[in-house]
Amino acid sequence: MSSYTQRVLDSLKAKYPYQPEFLQAAEEILTTLQPVVEKEPKYEKYKILERMVEPERTISFRVEWVDDKGEVQVNKGYRVQFNSAIGPYKGGIRLHPTVNEGVLKFLGLEQILKNSLTGTPIGGAKGGSDFDPKGKSETEIMRFCQAFMIQLHRYIGALVDVPAGDIGTGGREIGYMYGAYKRLTTKYEGVLTGKGLNYGGSLARTEATGYGVVYFTDAMLKDRADSLKGKKCAVSGSGNVAIYCCEKLYQLGATPVTVSDSTGTIYDPNGIDVAVLKQVKEVERARLTRYAELVKTAQYTPVEQYPAGKHQVWCYPVDCAFPCATQNELNEEDAKTLLQNGCKVVAEGANMPSTLGAIKQFLDAKIAYGPAKAANAGGVATSQLEMEQNAGMTSWTFEEVDAKLHNIMTNLYKNVAETAREFGVEGNLVLGSNIAGFRKVADAMIAQGV
Ligand code: GLU
Repeated sequence: MSSYTQRVLDSLKAKYPYQPEFLQAAEEILTTLQPVVEKEPKYEKYKILERMVEPERTISFRVEWVDDKGEVQVNKGYRVQFNSAIGPYKGGIRLHPTVNEGVLKFLGLEQILKNSLTGTPIGGAKGGSDFDPKGKSETEIMRFCQAFMIQLHRYIGALVDVPAGDIGTGGREIGYMYGAYKRLTTKYEGVLTGKGLNYGGSLARTEATGYGVVYFTDAMLKDRADSLKGKKCAVSGSGNVAIYCCEKLYQLGATPVTVSDSTGTIYDPNGIDVAVLKQVKEVERARLTRYAELVKTAQYTPVEQYPAGKHQVWCYPVDCAFPCATQNELNEEDAKTLLQNGCKVVAEGANMPSTLGAIKQFLDAKIAYGPAKAANAGGVATSQLEMEQNAGMTSWTFEEVDAKLHNIMTNLYKNVAETAREFGVEGNLVLGSNIAGFRKVADAMIAQGV
């Protein structure tokens, strides 16, 4: 008879063949949990895997709004409240045309284990819409966010479900959503994280995911008697994860030499100019072609000129790679190219950026590989710090929050590395992260009954 994890995976494949991203995330997780479910029969007895892969609740709704031409627009909105065993639902809101229930289920499933790994009491969720913010005016963005919250507000709350940003949802969108929530409910509460600093936001939240992925990498390298000093790094993406990953890399003595967006890739062997990148992406909200105009040493490759089947950003000789853009942005061919060019470190700032084939390459090569749910947990961990500050009606200094973030990421690394060792696969942080994240949630589910 096939193993417990395999049976659960097979039944998911039969049930949700139209949710490929969810199946991919489930496969990555389930295939590593076999040793722990063998060791602890209680997980099978209480059908923990079957329960954990099914969201507690999925809310889906119509979002209707009026564009600048006066035309009615209709989008699909969702909130997947996946697991509340260890705390209120927590996770971002993604606004992107690729969003559908399967994508949000993959993100929500990852979020359960990620949130557990932070060591703080937050459950897993994800939400979003197929709304495309690209090319929309400021007022269209505002009206969409308000319309989205008209639907969502009745299902969330500071101790119920606390959404945050993700792709397409930054500080501006959180502000509009927060304003709408407050008007609809009359409650001034910490119902969203990533808020502006003068209405309950936390210092260092914007920087947290990018800084966190570098803190994680620093811990991972220290454990291998190495450091980031002098390392050349490929970073993909150019949102807040990529920007603050680059900033922290410089602070620790490394040099980021690439960034990318949906239209192309920048390569500059002298290093990315973070001040220009912030100006282009945070202030002007422009494309990287603008960065190439401003920085003469930058080489720009448009998407149309990428090598067939590969992503340009992974084609340069680097010591470390930080995928900080989106899911499946680093495939098996990209992984082979990175390894051939001498890359020895990969840490994921985005969610599920590496395909299953790419992950296998990294694990077989035994390089330092930090999977997303561990390496990018700094964002949500700092969201939890924002919740703590809101609950206490207080705010902490940048240094205080940053020190807590550093501490969380260092402990998180130790926990996942130690778990990998416990199961006899030293350095396999995929298994270490999945098992360490899983155990806490699974035991809480058992304790709380059926
Ligand atoms: N979207 C981020 C993530 O993938 C942050 C979520 C949050 O802060 O709740 O973890």
